Amino acid sequence: MPTDIKSLTRDELEAQFKSWKEPAYRVTQLLEWLYARRAANWDAMTNLPKPLLEKLQKNFSLHSLELVRKQGAQDTTQKFLWKLADGALIESVLIPANPALYGEASDRHTLCISTQVGCAYGCKFCASGLDGWKRNLAPDEIVEQVLAVERLMSSSGSSSSSKEKPITSTRTTTRAIDNVVVMGMGEPLANYEHLLKALTILNAPWGGGIGARKITISTSGLAPQIRRLATEPLQFRLAISLHGATDAVRNRIMPVNRKHSLKELVAACEYYQIQKGRMLTFEYILIAGVNDSVEQARPLAALAKKLFAKVNLIPYNKVEGLPWERPDEKVCEAFLRALEKQKVTATLRREKGHDIDAACGQLRLKTEKELVAAA
Ligand code: SF4
Repeated sequence: MPTDIKSLTRDELEAQFKSWKEPAYRVTQLLEWLYARRAANWDAMTNLPKPLLEKLQKNFSLHSLELVRKQGAQDTTQKFLWKLADGALIESVLIPANPALYGEASDRHTLCISTQVGCAYGCKFCASGLDGWKRNLAPDEIVEQVLAVERLMSSSGSSSSSKEKPITSTRTTTRAIDNVVVMGMGEPLANYEHLLKALTILNAPWGGGIGARKITISTSGLAPQIRRLATEPLQFRLAISLHGATDAVRNRIMPVNRKHSLKELVAACEYYQIQKGRMLTFEYILIAGVNDSVEQARPLAALAKKLFAKVNLIPYNKVEGLPWERPDEKVCEAFLRALEKQKVTATLRREKGHDIDAACGQLRLKTEKELVAAA
């Protein structure tokens, strides 16, 4: 299958157009169609000459994600299940304005995106890893999740807020997604090259125009890749899916910890902070009887203080077929208070995301099972 056009950077397109002896301004026009107008097919690009469109069609594909299912919870968190060109399924989750999450109070739409089909890391509580890893997403498949959600939002009229900001001063369309968290299906840093290319495209003024500080990359703890990320020029935010503040707890629920221990992870995070001078976030899913005791809050607070990290507490969303349970609300509140008492900046997610199979990977598994049953 030819490379999708949305997997190319501006420089790569310019080199291609140069070799075709096409003027550089045609690249600008093409990029405008792809990222400002979110064109889903070549025919829409009415100001590009036919011979150029023919060359583009012959050499590149232009895929849009096909919506298979959409679920929305009472709190308007929405989950999208997409079909890729090869039939594989991935998920994205749209989270409405929530100052307690990854950005400031002005954030309006955060999209959580996937980077792999399935996941090889097998965290014991996670639905995404249940069926193993199938493949990495290409850069265009990562980028397209933002564009596809925006297409749906604009067709349903939900992105017409007067506060919406223009992508650039010269563009007429607007960016509805202004915050991206790479925390969906897959371990982002295990698909490093494609991830970085996709985020470069989403960040570039000629592409998505989403500020690097509005993009959060989450990892389960790939220490060597964290060190590599620290040397990249772009200032993305980093979140660690910690879920345990001791090796004993992390070894129990996150096999990655056996390869990269907490000590190695912490050293990589310290290096990242020295290089970037940026605050980290710890994601901490509270699982009943595993990591939710007040005693566990102590080592977590110590780590958070050491790394100047803020902590996002997320009560576990039950996954069908897995034994783990969500703690009582009181337990979650007590855990939060224990962190606050130790002067750690922490938030507790109180939304009812579990109404929509919100645990990453659940909707995909459910749909795949239904498809098998119907076959
Ligand atoms: S939590 Fe993340 S890294 Fe762990 S299995 Fe799930 S998708 Fe993979």
